[in-house]
Amino acid sequence: MTLRRPNTLAARERRTQRARIAALFAGLRTCYRAGQRVLKAVASFFSSLLAPLTPPGHHQMQASFEERVTRAQRLLTGDLRAAEKETAGKRLTWLEQAGFPEAPEWPELRSPADGSSATARRAVSPRQAYELLFRDYMGLDLLELPVVEESDSHVTWLSRNACPTLEACSRLGLDTREVCRVVYEKPTQLFLSRLDPSLRFVRDYSAIRPYAPHCRESIVRLDLDGLMREAIAEAWAAKAEGNKGYGAAIVLGDRILAQAHDSITTDRDPSKHGELKVICEAAATLGSPDLCGALLLSTCEPCPMCAGLAIWANVTTIIYGSSIADAAAMGRTRIMVEAAEIAQRSPFTIEVFGGLLKTECDSLYV
Ligand SMILES: [Zn+2]
Repeated sequence: MTLRRPNTLAARERRTQRARIAALFAGLRTCYRAGQRVLKAVASFFSSLLAPLTPPGHHQMQASFEERVTRAQRLLTGDLRAAEKETAGKRLTWLEQAGFPEAPEWPELRSPADGSSATARRAVSPRQAYELLFRDYMGLDLLELPVVEESDSHVTWLSRNACPTLEACSRLGLDTREVCRVVYEKPTQLFLSRLDPSLRFVRDYSAIRPYAPHCRESIVRLDLDGLMREAIAEAWAAKAEGNKGYGAAIVLGDRILAQAHDSITTDRDPSKHGELKVICEAAATLGSPDLCGALLLSTCEPCPMCAGLAIWANVTTIIYGSSIADAAAMGRTRIMVEAAEIAQRSPFTIEVFGGLLKTECDSLYV
């Protein structure tokens, strides 16, 4: 008996210890499960917050969680330029894979051997571009973006689709007029330019959700030859006045905002380049230094000053006729830095195409 007591005590203690350990494990299990639930809830919260940042197009459905986090951080920290570059890169990669590789040099694309450039080699209608962008690339049902106006040269639709960016902006307290302009305007134009450089994307920012019941958007086809001829006429006017003979025009949507020619000699002002004058005039007309969406046409490749100004003005596209090298070879004094190089070194997205109506432009500098 005397020997059993300690045993009994020991057994009780062991039982108590086992019970404590079991309780401890049960507690840990509960904590673990609760932790898992919390983690799941946190992950679900972030997923719901971040998921709308990825457009529903099937090409982007595989965007990883990390990519969504990065995208949300960019929107939240205001790094919209990075989001713009990423969007543009994805769109151009998709086009490459869809059989729309980068176009050859403009003269090959636009100017047949006879010197005219009336026929684009790769002509895509505004309607085809609209379908390619929204149905094929984004995977949207076009009934959600009904076309309300259409002709051979333009298509206008009202976007009523469930928009991930709109949803994200409302959750994050951001203004779509700013976010959508920076993140989507230029990438959409790059997409269209790859299809056919005469197509332009036009969005009415006064009619954009949530400030309007839908987003009103258009694709227009410009008569680029006709617009360049306006610039050429300016250049001839400059020569007639005793100036150097550089003409320029700036276009937003399908509207010429300004056209001008250099007046360095007559104004006795070395800054009076045609491109600089049209950029300043367009900014004054719009009442804003931001010319996002604008197309700058110039008879000759813009000099570093004008290419730089186009970048600071946030111009979307530069199209020129003669190159700096062409003009220099014909005896013109030029700073030998290509506009494309300045664009490439810039933090902003800007397209540069050369060679439109090159023969006619070259005749100005012979
Ligand atoms: Zn210049």
